[in-house]
Amino acid sequence: MSNPPTAAPFGPLQHGDALENLSYEDSKFAPSAEFARNAVVGAEVYAEADADRPAFWARQARELLTWSRDFTQTLDWSDPPFAKWFVGGEINAAYNALDRHVENGLGDRTAIFFEGEPGDTRTYTYAQLTEEVKKAANAFESLGLAKGDRVAVYLPMIPEAVITLLACARIGAVHSVVFGGFSADALRSRIEDAEARLVVTADGTWRRGKPSALKPAVDEALSGGGHTVENVVVVRRNGQEVDWHQGRDHWWADTVGAASNQHTAVGHDAEHPLFILYTSGTTGRPKGILHTTGGYLTQTAFTHQAVFDLHPDTDVYWCTADIGWVTGHSYVAYAPLINAATQVMYEGTPDSPHQGRWWEIIEKYKVSIFYTAPTAIRTFMKWGRDIPDRYDLSSLRVLGSVGESINPEAWMWYRDVIGDNVGKNGEKKDNPAPIVDTWWQTETGAQMIAPLPGVTATKPGSAQVPLPGIAVDVVDEAGESVPDGHGGFLVIREPWPAMLRGIWGDPERFKDTYWSRFQTMYFAGDGAKKDEDGDIWLLGRVDDVMNISGHRLSTTEIESALVSHPAVAEAAVVGAADETTGQAVVAFVILRCDATDTGDAIVQELRTHVGKEIGPIAKPKTILVVPELPKTRSGKIMRRLLKDVAEGREAGDATTLADNTIMQTITDSLKIRK
Ligand code: ATP
Ligand code: MG
Repeated sequence: MSNPPTAAPFGPLQHGDALENLSYEDSKFAPSAEFARNAVVGAEVYAEADADRPAFWARQARELLTWSRDFTQTLDWSDPPFAKWFVGGEINAAYNALDRHVENGLGDRTAIFFEGEPGDTRTYTYAQLTEEVKKAANAFESLGLAKGDRVAVYLPMIPEAVITLLACARIGAVHSVVFGGFSADALRSRIEDAEARLVVTADGTWRRGKPSALKPAVDEALSGGGHTVENVVVVRRNGQEVDWHQGRDHWWADTVGAASNQHTAVGHDAEHPLFILYTSGTTGRPKGILHTTGGYLTQTAFTHQAVFDLHPDTDVYWCTADIGWVTGHSYVAYAPLINAATQVMYEGTPDSPHQGRWWEIIEKYKVSIFYTAPTAIRTFMKWGRDIPDRYDLSSLRVLGSVGESINPEAWMWYRDVIGDNVGKNGEKKDNPAPIVDTWWQTETGAQMIAPLPGVTATKPGSAQVPLPGIAVDVVDEAGESVPDGHGGFLVIREPWPAMLRGIWGDPERFKDTYWSRFQTMYFAGDGAKKDEDGDIWLLGRVDDVMNISGHRLSTTEIESALVSHPAVAEAAVVGAADETTGQAVVAFVILRCDATDTGDAIVQELRTHVGKEIGPIAKPKTILVVPELPKTRSGKIMRRLLKDVAEGREAGDATTLADNTIMQTITDSLKIRK
């Protein structure tokens, strides 16, 4: 961490703390008897994992995956923090995601229902997807790509993205996906950092009904040399004109299209690198996180099955994450296919061509498991419930959340309006869909803290319980476990299968960032609290904890208090330097579309509201009404940029923002209001 605080970020729960006061704090929603009875995973897994953690993971590895060579040792932790899982084992990720399902008679099952933004659709069965991946693997090999080589992937959410990732994994090449919304500069630095030999991209994509270019950014990133890229494969997606570099550039349709559909997958070592992926850069310079094969596949497959209660023969799964984010790796490209699920993939934005597009997709494909981010849910709240009410949402039976804490208000809306809504006629369901809030990071590779939908009585706003086989804890500054009812630093005490194996090319930064604060424990950088039941509540980044006249306050709690006001759609809170109080709470809020009062009166009312919900000390000194908030590709609020604004500085590195015009929009809107 850049600047680890010396004291535990949060003390015991005080009377007046947001967690005590938020109106849903006492609500608990137990699974229905029917859901519990049919659940894939029951409460017994906790006991099994507690009794022998490595044995539990070894069983998952052998049951969920097909190894070309069995492993001889489950975990080698002799050289911490460098773990080796499933030592001696050999496995091919693509074979596990594809070929074996075809061999097992599932070739005709739909793997992907693709929905393009303009409304074009494609369906791939497992047999067809296997064939495409074999062709891509042959094509990449014919371009000279070999095991261990790196491939930069700069693609929109189209099936070729999944095909590319699996083709790389098949031949042992290491993919490094760069979000399609990033600039040429961000792409160049990632291409150079990984020393990529191949880039896979598209002419462009569609955004809100308009074509949007990708290839020009690749051309720009590769101009001026200084890189190791030999070939660029280009998918034709939106048909726009592109510059062509003869000899370097190849159309996907020509190379992959012409390649043979015969390709034998060989096993790679369990610790063979699978991919590099950069963190969101919410707290600083993005880190190139390295993941390897066997442990990553084991934990993503297990969590996808257990946390979403996946019944692969009947469920239709949809994760809305972009492939440029870790969620789009673990829970789009890998786990669903490893588990032989049928999934939906959508290219565009939720409001194109209308604000009901997502619900329309759920109705059309009868989606039963839906996984999205709180930022999306708050956007839908802002647009109003009459939009989802127009669609048939009765197929939904599990709802997931990831990326940041889901405010209790948003959680309840998700449950009532999406999970407990037959739709169209406003009828309630017999059993509302359980919500699973999943805490994890690019670094953890897979979900770490989450309820099990057939076991856990869920609480609005809490990720609650470490998954079986995962040793999460909340500790004080000395590394001692805090008692229930107290807060501190979130740590992971024992190695886990999908853990990062390092930061690409920077072993020292790996040790410094995660292993220096508590030596033998992984420090996640997040603050958390255990409630009286021992359930875990995530409270935001330790770096973001505010110190107001000696009181430690969490961004998440104040944001949740603001969002619980009916006029507020979204809120971001930062601590800005203040001469009298050390730091002062500054809140940026987006009002709901139907909010009538947008002036000073609402600002006063919101201050009073926070005072009532949490206590006078938490009342924001300044509340700024803004049209947008700066967010990363995965929808996380970039508080550090808002802090720059609040402290009157030029905003810092904004290269990982999903939309880099946002900061200008915000500062302009503040100038107008002054
Ligand atoms: P960087 O490390 O570069 O600052 P980042 O941490 O935003 O970027 P990610 O790996 O995408 O990059 O995000 C992981 C972080 O997201 C977690 O550490 C946590 O702060 C937050 N997060 C993810 N899921 C949840 C959740 N369910 N509840 C609360 N916070 C979450
Ligand atoms: Mg992080």
